[in-house]
Amino acid sequence: MEARAAAILGVRHAVAVSSCTSGLILLLRALDLRGEVILPSFTWASTGHAALWNNLRPVFADCEEHTYTVKAAEVEALIGPETAAVIAVNTFGLYPDMDALAALCRARGLRFVSDSAQGSGARYQGRIGGGLADAEVFSLSPTKVVTAVEGGLVTTNDAGLAGIVRRMRDYGKSANGRDVEYLGLSARISEFHAVIGLMGFERLDELLQRRAAILRVTEVGWTASTGCVFRNSRKGARHPEIILLLSWNPTSSRGKRSPSASRRWALPPNRIFPTAASPKAFAAEGAPRRPLPVTEWASARGLALPIFTHMDDATVDRVCAAVRQSLS
Ligand SMILES: *Cc1c(COP(=O)(O)O)cnc(C)c1O
Repeated sequence: MEARAAAILGVRHAVAVSSCTSGLILLLRALDLRGEVILPSFTWASTGHAALWNNLRPVFADCEEHTYTVKAAEVEALIGPETAAVIAVNTFGLYPDMDALAALCRARGLRFVSDSAQGSGARYQGRIGGGLADAEVFSLSPTKVVTAVEGGLVTTNDAGLAGIVRRMRDYGKSANGRDVEYLGLSARISEFHAVIGLMGFERLDELLQRRAAILRVTEVGWTASTGCVFRNSRKGARHPEIILLLSWNPTSSRGKRSPSASRRWALPPNRIFPTAASPKAFAAEGAPRRPLPVTEWASARGLALPIFTHMDDATVDRVCAAVRQSLS
């Protein structure tokens, strides 16, 4: 499964692990970092938790208004003498400006990692994700494009790094298994899960096409009739929609998310990344708090609706109708 996934993702090495979170924890440890890591505030808690598990201080950078991906200029402004690495995040399928972030890291001698949990099959400037940073980590958990029921995948073109993560996922055992060489976890993927993940990677194009078709159906007539706007794509990107990420049009009187309005939802919408705007776990660990206006805006006005590849047309229509009804 690792070899096939690596070939499909256009990268030399893939190491399958028990989850994206464990993959991120092992990867940051394998990179042997100290000090601070800069990461987006608009992400799932795992990205920052992986830093905390490695005694690295997370420094949160705000996101762009229309793509919800991290702002490269803000990352640049946050780089300081303590910065050891930058973690990019693929946001619901869309990569941030990876070229700008990679260039920044190269110029300052920083490691560049991507939490690509949501990005299986996503393309940036025509290139498929897998080798867009020193290493990327994908999630194979149930809500992602490719699932192994549970699992994760660390991808890199760096043979040494792949080798260390491979040892670390298996208690840090040496290659011959007779010694313990690295600080490890028990974070292997089982054969059973790997087979399911492999089936997903083999069907990647089909899975992406189905998501794109669902997006087309929901876009037609929906945004116009509800006052919602879909998030923007980035030029040259082809990305799977992990969820339908919308925001209320703040100039429209409709779509104000009041408690009573949300009670009327036939399908209760998820708050996007509830941890993003209130990083209690991070504050408790001493992460500095900075103003993150776009993240707070996105968290308050954003709306995440489910999308999955085996969603049939009738279900898509039902979701669309529920949204229209709730906002009329
Ligand atoms: C889903 C997700 C994770 C966690 O993935 P697991 O495989 O469940 O550990 C991490 N980061 C982001 C951005 C995610 O969306």
